[in-house]
Amino acid sequence: YTVRRMYDVEDYYVTDYKLTPKDISNAIKNDEFLFFYQPILSLSTGNIDSAEALIRWKKNNGELVQARHFIPYAEQTGLITEITKAMIPRFLEDLKKINQQNNAIVTSLNISSKDMAQEEFVPTLLKLINDSGIDPSKIKIELTESSALTLSIERLLDIAELKAHGIELAIDDFGTGHATFEKLKNLPFKTLKIDQTMTSQAMSTPDGLTLLDHSINLAHQLQMTSVAEGVETDALMKYLMGIGCEHIQGYFISKPLELSSFIEFINNEHDWDIMQHGQIYKAIIDFTDWQRKVYSSLYISSDNMRIVEFEAEHSPAGKFLFEVVNTADIRLFNKLNTSYKKSYEVAKILLNAKSSGDQNLIEKLLPDFFDTCGKVSALLQKAYAKECQHGLLKHSSFRK
Ligand code: C2E
Ligand code: CA
Repeated sequence: YTVRRMYDVEDYYVTDYKLTPKDISNAIKNDEFLFFYQPILSLSTGNIDSAEALIRWKKNNGELVQARHFIPYAEQTGLITEITKAMIPRFLEDLKKINQQNNAIVTSLNISSKDMAQEEFVPTLLKLINDSGIDPSKIKIELTESSALTLSIERLLDIAELKAHGIELAIDDFGTGHATFEKLKNLPFKTLKIDQTMTSQAMSTPDGLTLLDHSINLAHQLQMTSVAEGVETDALMKYLMGIGCEHIQGYFISKPLELSSFIEFINNEHDWDIMQHGQIYKAIIDFTDWQRKVYSSLYISSDNMRIVEFEAEHSPAGKFLFEVVNTADIRLFNKLNTSYKKSYEVAKILLNAKSSGDQNLIEKLLPDFFDTCGKVSALLQKAYAKECQHGLLKHSSFRK
């Protein structure tokens, strides 16, 4: 396995030579592996609320080797499991330091399919986390799309166990495998990380853009949140905001940083020019969809109705309306909130009337239902237009 000499954006390089298993085991023994952390920006709050641990090999001679130059080799030879084993305690130590500085940050760790294939992997991980005293909800595990799709039943149970402990799960490199809605639907993953090949192609071809749109909508339909990886430009960040992508990661925000620099980075003030029109767009779609579901279910036998699906707080639109405070027009949002809650209350009575077979009540309430829904839609549309105009005035980049 030859490591090619190359310079990259982080200005580190490796010289030409063939890796051997001995190189890896020596590096573990000499404690030459460490994690860099890449900040992840929340597009709904404008804060750095998460990070990804990315392994680096710092040789005794000072050379710093990027993950892509030795992780594929380690995966191929199976040595990755040794690296992971050695690095989990290191990750947990770093995490303590990160959360001491900022308790909101969730940090993710990349796990190879070779790690997951081991029966003792998840129990060992859980024990180490438990012994460390770290809050498991501050940890996220990233599994690539292809390894997530090929998990055996036993390993799926392990994944469910991680989730039950409050550990978040992410599908990594989405767009490089062959996941479908049907396959993803049953997996307990919360985050979809859109691969950087998809992100980087988005701005150069119309098809690329459509694909990116579809992937983010797919995450939304699966009730997952999306992270776009490899975001290198302001324009792409703005575009992603507009389609309701929740998080971005990439050089535009920051390169992966050594722990001390990462901590410095999260302590500094940043102004990322966040706009919420994409979140509002999602709320519009979601609300329209919700209205359809409520109405359609009046035709379906009551046994088949899942009332929980109609609960306001469960829908992305609901979450948005209940959580978002940082917006252009607070009064508008208060009105919106009131109408939204009212439409939800009417829907509840409607659905109960359906359960008890009270056709008269249904007929009486339907005009009310559509009336409040109409108000919500109109207010959402107004909020959308306001946020877009606000952004247009605020961000000169739109005028270029
Ligand atoms: P990944 O999980 O897809 O990680 C993202 C890679 O993209 C990282 O490369 C990161 O440095 C790079 N990157 C981030 N932002 C940008 C950007 O804006 N533009 C470009 N061009 N690149 C960007 P890195 O650190 O070399 O890692 C490569 C791969 O190695 C990772 O891909 C991941 O699959 C694997 N890896 C890294 N650390 C670990 C680890 O601790 N364990 C395991 N099993 N795999 C790891
Ligand atoms: Ca990753």
